[in-house]
Amino acid sequence: MVSVYVSGATGFIAQHIVSQLVAKKYNVIGSVRSAEKGEQLKKDLGSDLFEYEIVEDIVTPGAFDESLKKHPEVTVFLHTASPFHFNTTDVEKDLLKPAIEGTKNALKSIKEYGPQITKVVVTSSYAAVAPPDGSPEAPREMILTEESWNPADLEKALKFPNLGYRASKTFAERAAWEFLETEKPNFTLNCVNPSFVFGPQAFKSGVRSTLNTSSEVLNAIVKAGTDESKVPQSIGGFVDVRDVARAHLHGFESDVTNFRYLLVTSRFATQDIVDIINEKIPSLKGKIIVGTPGSGKEKTDKIAQVDNTKTKEKLGEFISLEDSVIDSIKQIVE
Ligand code: NDP
Repeated sequence: MVSVYVSGATGFIAQHIVSQLVAKKYNVIGSVRSAEKGEQLKKDLGSDLFEYEIVEDIVTPGAFDESLKKHPEVTVFLHTASPFHFNTTDVEKDLLKPAIEGTKNALKSIKEYGPQITKVVVTSSYAAVAPPDGSPEAPREMILTEESWNPADLEKALKFPNLGYRASKTFAERAAWEFLETEKPNFTLNCVNPSFVFGPQAFKSGVRSTLNTSSEVLNAIVKAGTDESKVPQSIGGFVDVRDVARAHLHGFESDVTNFRYLLVTSRFATQDIVDIINEKIPSLKGKIIVGTPGSGKEKTDKIAQVDNTKTKEKLGEFISLEDSVIDSIKQIVE
């Protein structure tokens, strides 16, 4: 039976990864920040195939050493833990360091204490792909592919949390590829680069008044009610969390190596989400804004194009924006 280590197992995306792994009968060792969080996840999963190890802070040098020493059966490592929020006045401490040092610490521990680990998948981001200028999105003439990189600028990143987050993912992913190049470890590497991730929480216990950063894009529309000024206007790429989890599994189950799964199912603007809710969730009719139905496309037609054919060929069909929004909102309403 293959044993898979998942860092940051309690995260929105990671809980889906762990669920899919357990459903496929993998043994899973998940790193969590506290016993309380680990117990909750164990209860939610209801499976003996899952156990947790406490790694309070991935920034601490050697953070993963002890748990890897304890689990010589692990042959696959999925590194998902990384902060995703813009709520900081100290970009270096709260975003850059955990992303970059966390990734380096994980890879160093694997090389030293997990030489039997042959496959590593790192959760990177679309943020490491798209350039940060042309806010909030890159210009139309640009075609972003699996080979594109965000030319992140450290000086600017330190000033703005939004750019800081994007840079944190860019520098962390670069550090992973550099590690592979310079350290020549026993493992192969793939990265998963999702755009905005929507979709339901893996477990009802995860549905709170404020959700993780990307799910909050949907939750905020419901919470704003009919007050247009309270609805944050987002635009970008979207992918459903269940497809993101699937990509992580593909990243070690297949013979694909040295690849970046660029996960953009389609483009969206807030208006598209509003339209889906108004059309498909009758219980919210009259309770959320209407905006200008059908006008989302005018906005998404102006932003960079994405060509992720290579990724789509590998992963097959993706869950649509409509299905993802319906599943997410139904869970919030319940
Ligand atoms: P969550 O915030 O739900 O999950 C982040 C996870 O990382 C949590 O388990 C968190 O633990 C853990 N973590 C963060 N900082 C530390 C730290 N210093 N030490 C130990 N653990 C830490 O976010 P997502 O699930 O959305 O994100 C998961 C990954 O996916 C991240 O790498 C993110 O950058 C990436 N991503 C997410 C996208 C999205 O739209 N959701 C898009 C693109 C990439 P705790 O909750 O206990 O603090």
